[in-house]
Amino acid sequence: MDTMDRRYFLSLSVRLTALMGLGAKAIPAMAESLAQLAQGNAPALWLQGQSCSGCSISLLNSEPLGPAQLLTQYLSLAFHQTLSGATGEMAVQVVDRAIAKGGYFLIVEGAVPAAMPTACRFGEETFSAQLGRAARQAKAILCVGSCATSGGIPAAQNNPTGAIGVPAFLAQQSIGTPRISIPGCPAHPDWIVGTLAHVLKFGLPPLDELGQPKAFFARSIHEQCPRFTDYERENFARTFGAEGCLFKLGCAGPITKADCTLRQWNGGTNDCIRAGAPCIGCARAAFAARADFPFHLKNSPAKSEARP
Ligand code: SF4
Ligand code: SF4
Repeated sequence: MDTMDRRYFLSLSVRLTALMGLGAKAIPAMAESLAQLAQGNAPALWLQGQSCSGCSISLLNSEPLGPAQLLTQYLSLAFHQTLSGATGEMAVQVVDRAIAKGGYFLIVEGAVPAAMPTACRFGEETFSAQLGRAARQAKAILCVGSCATSGGIPAAQNNPTGAIGVPAFLAQQSIGTPRISIPGCPAHPDWIVGTLAHVLKFGLPPLDELGQPKAFFARSIHEQCPRFTDYERENFARTFGAEGCLFKLGCAGPITKADCTLRQWNGGTNDCIRAGAPCIGCARAAFAARADFPFHLKNSPAKSEARP
């Protein structure tokens, strides 16, 4: 590790350990873990099911010298659908070789089309079959993004594919490989890299009842909101972008657990609420599931048809 790398890993580990609540003593170990990732000692296989690739894009757009660089330049990625040069039969062979070797961290982005397996394929194989093979051979599974954790937008009511999250799929298939859920639409880059680094150095992090790292998802957006005093004083915003609490504009902060307002997005530049937009609950298990979620109604020609 040269001086530049050491400085980079230390600064990233200071940020990650602080925001994971691990305390100062964990900083050197976390830096070591990040360095291990950098040396390619952590083979990872990244598979995508029903998804828009938004979690990958979020990761790739994170700040310079940030998690994206760590993952794309240093992590030993056996395969990533968006990043890998291999296509066609060659891509199938790369993934098959990785699965046969086993012992990798499996990162899954996207939902599983349980009612219509052929809706999502990789070569000749359905994604469900590929995921089942890959999950059995993995050391641990990271379900990245709300599609992977609970079905997300593909699982919206009335979707004919019958999309489900990866944990539900693993339960159906009786696959007991340890798994961690990192929700969000998209998932924050720090949540992904921080969890990977923790798994590598310390094992599975403390998880909540949904299998989510408590370090990131223990408290609600509401409790950590910069507009919480506005809520208490009943100073409510009437229009998007206005000052005041966004509760009356439909803010889902009180029912969504994530640390967005502390961590912020785009290298700590901003977050939904600071930008004057309500939290839409993208890190909630039920995100976008109901047909009356505004997201769906906006483009629906007939509201009555969209409802059950
Ligand atoms: S803006 Fe949303 S999260 Fe913030 S205090 Fe108001 S309701 Fe709670
Ligand atoms: S504030 Fe809410 S909608 Fe915005 S990224 Fe966080 S969980 Fe998602």
